[in-house]
Amino acid sequence: MSNKKETLSFQTEVKQLLHLVTHSLYSNKEIFLRELISNASDALDKLRFLTLSDNALYENDNDLKILINFDSKNRTITISDNGIGMSREEIIENLGTIAKSGTKDFLAALTKTQTEDTNLIGQFGVGFYSSFVVSDKVTVKSRRAGMIKDEAVQWESDGSGEYTILNIKKENRGTEIILHLKKDEDEFLNYLRLQNIINKYSDHILFPILMPKEEGKEPEKINSATALWTLPKKDIKEEDYKALYKHISHDFEDPLLYAHNHVEGKLEYTSLLYIPARAPFDLWQREHRYGLKLFVQRVFIMDDAENLLPSYLRFVRGIVDSKDLPLNVSREILQNNKVIEQIRMSIIKRILDMLEKLAETDKEKYAKFWQAFGLVLKEGAAEDHANLEKIAKLLRFSSTHTDSTEQDVSLDDYLSRMKEGQDKIYYIIGDSFLAAKNSPHLEILRKKGIEVLLLSDRIDEWLIAHLFEYKEKQMQSITRADLNLEKFEDKEQKEKLEQAKTECTDLVERIKKVLTDKIKDVRISDRLIDSPACLVAAEDDMSIHLQRVMLAAGQKLPDIKPILELNPSHPLIEKIKNEQSETRFGEWAEILLGAATLADGGQLKDPADFVKRLNKMLVE
Ligand code: ADP
Ligand code: MG
Repeated sequence: MSNKKETLSFQTEVKQLLHLVTHSLYSNKEIFLRELISNASDALDKLRFLTLSDNALYENDNDLKILINFDSKNRTITISDNGIGMSREEIIENLGTIAKSGTKDFLAALTKTQTEDTNLIGQFGVGFYSSFVVSDKVTVKSRRAGMIKDEAVQWESDGSGEYTILNIKKENRGTEIILHLKKDEDEFLNYLRLQNIINKYSDHILFPILMPKEEGKEPEKINSATALWTLPKKDIKEEDYKALYKHISHDFEDPLLYAHNHVEGKLEYTSLLYIPARAPFDLWQREHRYGLKLFVQRVFIMDDAENLLPSYLRFVRGIVDSKDLPLNVSREILQNNKVIEQIRMSIIKRILDMLEKLAETDKEKYAKFWQAFGLVLKEGAAEDHANLEKIAKLLRFSSTHTDSTEQDVSLDDYLSRMKEGQDKIYYIIGDSFLAAKNSPHLEILRKKGIEVLLLSDRIDEWLIAHLFEYKEKQMQSITRADLNLEKFEDKEQKEKLEQAKTECTDLVERIKKVLTDKIKDVRISDRLIDSPACLVAAEDDMSIHLQRVMLAAGQKLPDIKPILELNPSHPLIEKIKNEQSETRFGEWAEILLGAATLADGGQLKDPADFVKRLNKMLVE
């Protein structure tokens, strides 16, 4: 290994992030200490975990701790730990690049909005780079546990574009981070100020944090260093719960909700679960890492234990501390572990109960939750059949009851408003809220005062495919041919419809003949009030909206023809009925079909042809 100093360049994303961080975190600059202590604590956790199988890594030093020193003369703050440390490769990898998925998209979005938004940056988790908010130079000395003293490494940068790296000798295992403070940051060269920050953000860190009261004096422990979740609930303050949340989630904001439980019996574990107040930046990234922090008997085992959470609850943060797992569990072991499976099931139930209670007790907060995570929760309908009923209870929709884009109608709300004799839950799915809300299919239901759920999220087709019913009431699409509203009709209406059907037999046959290649059938219906015609899917066919979604996603579908339904009382239908010229009749039929397709939010195969016919008929 050479002793020459090497100069390397930061990865482009790091440069961008550094720029953003140093320009946007100014009002929150004290969090640099929280981030560095959090890294030190992670490093100690990692070391302790590795020593479970290789005790020699302790090198006779098993007094794990974090040390903070400040030096007024040289204007530095030093944060040291005797944790896992970093090798040369690791330091380049960890401090010179960003491995997080979705970083590029995130940075692009941030740069575009030109906002120097602390909250957004906070969502991303600024980590180590926050040291450059207060420092004009940062020196990192590190030796990886198990490596010899001469193989330590020194990393140094002023946070602009480059860093240097140098091979050094380091007596103690672990990492030492020296912050050379910027000109105006003298406030941090102060015991009380530092102690205050540590108490605020890092009190719950499980390892002792030591700092001398005065420069040159013996360091003293300043945090409580207890595993918060192991304490009885009555001894824990709300602030403590919130601080721990911020530590494990890197969120700047308080959580929306949390629950702390000790479970005893067949299984013994403690869980501390948090629902964030807003979605993290990478919630929709496919590689998004999620899961809970897993401890076994207070020993940290791993972050993001995804076996503890289903993907549709991936927004939940928290900790599980189990008494029933061996200390040497690995991700592989977790995959088929009975204990984990049971904990997972009970945690899912707990989260769903927690949300149900929130929905009952605090509608406003629940609305906030739904806005942030409703789309994710909807995935649960497909993913978790065992809990379908519970998940369904938590769903919120737009509906014709309010006609508001705000999704705030629950299925229970819907049931409570059902009409006498109604045994179905009616819904429509559109490409957008407006397409659903203004669909011709709704006309008759609106007139009869029957509520319809207005669905327009991309996932809704999927949701409905799994949610057949709720509390024994079937879900019924109003755009299907089998929509049967007969029971809401009086004798007079039924007779009127029968009469219209008889009068239109001829018309129906004529249209069928003209459009035979394009539609399955023509029917006279009473579902329309203001529109002349609409399209419905036959009983066994895929819904028209789902066909569109699948086609848009590039799927190949067989040619599924819709049924054309006509409104016998519409003047246009009257007019066509009396059309004598077969040519003109043909044009009208095509126009009817085209207009019905468009009103549904569909696309015409040949729009120019449609417009040509329309223009022609308008002037004739
Ligand atoms: P994060 O902690 O979210 O991974 P950071 O920017 O805080 O992101 O840290 C980047 C990485 O640098 C860490 O994941 C870790 O691998 C490494 N690192 C930082 N500080 C230390 C330390 N004190 N000891 C060992 N490794 C560290
Ligand atoms: Mg970190």
